[in-house]
Amino acid sequence: AAQEGFDAEEIESELAAANAGPLPVLAVVGRPNVGKSTLVNRIIGRREAVVEDRPGVTRDRVTYEAEWTGRRFKVVDTGGWEQDVLGIDASVAAQAEYAIEAADAVVFVVDAAVGATDTDEAVVRLLRKAGKPVVLCANKVDGPSGEADAAYLWSLGLGEPYPVSALHGRGTGDMLDAVLEAMPEAPAQTFGNAPGGPRRIALIGRPNVGKSSLLNKVAKEDRVVVDATAGTTRDPVDELIDLGGKVWRFVDTAGIRRRVHFQDGADYYASLRTAAALEKAEAAVVLIDVTEPISVQDTRIITMAVEAGRALVIAYNKWDLLDEERRFYLEREIERDLVQVQWAPRVNISAQTGRHMEKLVPAIETSLESWSTRVPTGKLNAFLGELVASHPHPVRGGKQPRILFGTQAGTKPPRFVLFASGFLEAGYRRFIERRLREEFGFEGTPIKVSVRVRE
Ligand code: GDP
Ligand code: GDP
Repeated sequence: AAQEGFDAEEIESELAAANAGPLPVLAVVGRPNVGKSTLVNRIIGRREAVVEDRPGVTRDRVTYEAEWTGRRFKVVDTGGWEQDVLGIDASVAAQAEYAIEAADAVVFVVDAAVGATDTDEAVVRLLRKAGKPVVLCANKVDGPSGEADAAYLWSLGLGEPYPVSALHGRGTGDMLDAVLEAMPEAPAQTFGNAPGGPRRIALIGRPNVGKSSLLNKVAKEDRVVVDATAGTTRDPVDELIDLGGKVWRFVDTAGIRRRVHFQDGADYYASLRTAAALEKAEAAVVLIDVTEPISVQDTRIITMAVEAGRALVIAYNKWDLLDEERRFYLEREIERDLVQVQWAPRVNISAQTGRHMEKLVPAIETSLESWSTRVPTGKLNAFLGELVASHPHPVRGGKQPRILFGTQAGTKPPRFVLFASGFLEAGYRRFIERRLREEFGFEGTPIKVSVRVRE
């Protein structure tokens, strides 16, 4: 119904946007220098994924949101890695593998001027095996004269090559139309299980924090489920593990077990693997090594989980190695660097000795429960009404913006839309978020609050 100056249609569309839920994922893969990052920039329509001409610069960020003809999706850029870490074929294969695993559709970029190389052929084999929808992008076709080069790429057996100039934008529209036609509306992976199937957990954290030790511990002490549970499709990179009487799906465990530690490209591969695991998971357990100072890499990984909107547990590992002095500093580092995720349940564990392993499952369950919480509209508005009355927004330019009403648009994670009579300052928004948490809990889940202002 229309309320306080917002018509019903406006409210409806705002709620639909806030409730878009998990978006399908598009991976852009190919050899170095074929123009992947340039294409990603073109697709997201911003200069955010700045093309780095300096070699060896690792990008933190690999996932971006994009929209084409009204449909939203995520794009995974695989352009930021060092080709000489593993040797070219292995590098391309590794990055493509991670990206393809997490994707609902793939754009395979080939440099049309160069033509298909052996490395390209190797990626084609990976793509075939994965069985995901693929659109072939014949890039660097800057003008009509390049179209013939593009046509040669029919030989790859991936169907029609789309001639594109990522640099100038030529042909990208037709290619994106084809991408959207091939891509499912909703991600198949994230919530692909039958209702009541195993919940999906990602173990993430920087190299050497103890991910594979923890996985081995839980897989050893408890029963690893070999047969596929009814209603689930077994993914060879996932492991079904019986913990606390319940079956959990630990996603992307192949990436953990493989334990490839690269010299220079490590950060990049780790980021890509983390992004891939998060795409597939409902909850993330972020491991922190308590023997080392909390680092930028640790906080970046936590930020990735929060931005991905996953339920979160923070596991402080190697607790058996902690002495009094280090413990003192650790607590201060947590207060200083992790204050923005105070809401996440904390477990102090040792993957080595098994200390407090029994606390892991209840923590994950708490977070997942918060993640699905729905606050009834009446309760929410009673709370908002009281809040606005007791803590009104400061007057600005003679006007006082007011929250008129609010509603929860979705769950997983909880998403709220507030309808207001004027622009709400960032500080006030943060205050509202803080009070929402105080009132309704949300232990272990990020929440999203968007504000719609009456015109
Ligand atoms: P990536 O390593 O695959 O991510 O490739 P980049 O996006 O970094 O591009 C490699 C180089 O190719 C850069 O110098 C780009 O400017 C250039 N490039 C990318 N797309 C095009 C294109 O469509 N036409 C031309 N002429 N150059 C391009
Ligand atoms: P990953 O790179 O995150 O998978 O880390 P690993 O599981 O390979 O662990 C890195 C190192 O830390 C290995 O030598 C482990 O034996 C060690 N480690 C992992 N967890 C613990 C722990 O709880 N206590 C102790 N003392 N060592 C641990």
